[in-house]
Amino acid sequence: MTATAPREEQLWSRCAGCASLLYRKRLRRNLDVCPECGAHARLGAPERLRQLVDPGSLRPLPDRLPEADPIDFVDVLPYPHRLTAARASTGLSEAVVCGTATIGGHPAVLAVMDFRFLGGSLGCAVGELITQAAERALDDGVPLILVTASGGARMQEGALSLMQMATVSQAIAALREAGLLTVSVLTDPTYGGVAASFATNTDLVLAESGARMGFAGPRVIRQITGRALPEGFQTADFLLRHGQVDMVVQRRSLRGRLMALLAATGSGRPPRSAVPRQESAPRRERLADGPATEPAPADRDAWDTVRVARHPGRPTTLDYLDSVFDGFVELHGDRLGADCPAVVGGVARLDGRHVMVIGHQKGHTTAELVARNFGMASPAGHRKALRLMRLAARLGLPVITLVDTPGADPGVGAEEQGQAAAIAENILTLTVLPTPVLAVITGEGGSGGALALAVADRVLMLEHAVYSVISPEGCAAILWPDRSAAPQAARALRLTAPDLCRLGVIDEVVPEPTTAAHDDPAETARRLRAALLANLLPLLDVPTATLVRRRRQRFRRFGAARATFRAGVR
Ligand SMILES: [Zn+2]
Repeated sequence: MTATAPREEQLWSRCAGCASLLYRKRLRRNLDVCPECGAHARLGAPERLRQLVDPGSLRPLPDRLPEADPIDFVDVLPYPHRLTAARASTGLSEAVVCGTATIGGHPAVLAVMDFRFLGGSLGCAVGELITQAAERALDDGVPLILVTASGGARMQEGALSLMQMATVSQAIAALREAGLLTVSVLTDPTYGGVAASFATNTDLVLAESGARMGFAGPRVIRQITGRALPEGFQTADFLLRHGQVDMVVQRRSLRGRLMALLAATGSGRPPRSAVPRQESAPRRERLADGPATEPAPADRDAWDTVRVARHPGRPTTLDYLDSVFDGFVELHGDRLGADCPAVVGGVARLDGRHVMVIGHQKGHTTAELVARNFGMASPAGHRKALRLMRLAARLGLPVITLVDTPGADPGVGAEEQGQAAAIAENILTLTVLPTPVLAVITGEGGSGGALALAVADRVLMLEHAVYSVISPEGCAAILWPDRSAAPQAARALRLTAPDLCRLGVIDEVVPEPTTAAHDDPAETARRLRAALLANLLPLLDVPTATLVRRRRQRFRRFGAARATFRAGVR
């Protein structure tokens, strides 16, 4: 660039991705995304805020703090000189800009880091400013949005910088306890102490397209391991594949995504009393009346029902998210290294009410089934579900689960990663989850893998779904001479909806269209939606402590279920 005259330098800039020479104004109009190769150039905090918030809504929070050079740090320059130079070149007083604003009309507090200011490093002032922003969010009862860009903790402030990771994390924990949403948006680059604290311990983590995030930087890892790093290491897509972020978002979609997430999560503390009351009859009466829609005893053989439940045309969780719910925003990842494709989940609306939907995902074609591991969740899938359940509880969202799995993934890898413990943790958590939980067995409810999503206040079941402690084939292999006895096993297992309704394992059967769900998915969706609303609305009025107590009682009473069943049949 030495050959370029100063004036031309302002008019043109060279893309770091493809080296194209770009007209500066055109680049800015395109949000500093290269129109040639799509590379996202780094943004300063003021420009980032301008792109994200409603025009005119930004109210900056105080950014002046007492000068601090706590450890008299000097490298080739004294630390105060570096600070002065950073202030002069950026026009900012520190490496973060905080303010209140609205995004699509939803109020929020934002803290946006600026990499130009000493590499966006986290020192005492940055930690204090972000903590104050979090406290403001808590006072106002609004979500906190963090946009990160940082090389890590600020070396020039020594261990005091390190302490900031704890300080900011504590402030985020207070927002959690208050049920207020926290979102971080990872931008390039986010490393070290920032990555290992508030960039990733928020409720939701979005990565801007092309962003890289990690604890150790690539150069350090290469030095330590002496090995070349895999293609795309630590990039947004890599993070998504490894369950570290909820989504990768192009810059032009970022504002829209934040708007949708703020809207879907109620944009602040949802006052319980504000939930619309549409209850027609008290819950006790409903129970006394028994299921309103219990169908006539099925004349279909249990084995035929198993085959209908497994029909490849049967609507999947993603089909129902499209037909029964609105505005689904999928959230990914278990935060421990993986994103299991056999479980899908995220926020959505049911008849205008915000809910968290979590379900097993199969598929209609062989390729889809293979890609989704036939709906068999890995430990990562269960941990993703757990994360979303807890998030729903914090945000005051009811949880709706859609269960359709042959069972949990039985592979060697799943065992190595603690499949049993993962399922156990979900079951335990669901028993005490302080928010309404409604489960629907939509297809196959296979053993522990199904129960990991099906400990609920109300458990519904589609008419031709099945729910069983073991597959008929597995049962036949153990208890009969061979697997060809599966049809007998199916009958013996009492796995159909009417049987399970009599057992009290499920509360209500959702009738399917004349033949089955796969023949009329639209009508199935209409019926499922009606059943969900009829069962969910009464739950919204039950005080949380009562709800949890009743749920625990519901699962305590099964010691007597067998006797109940016999009484019902004979
Ligand atoms: Zn480019």
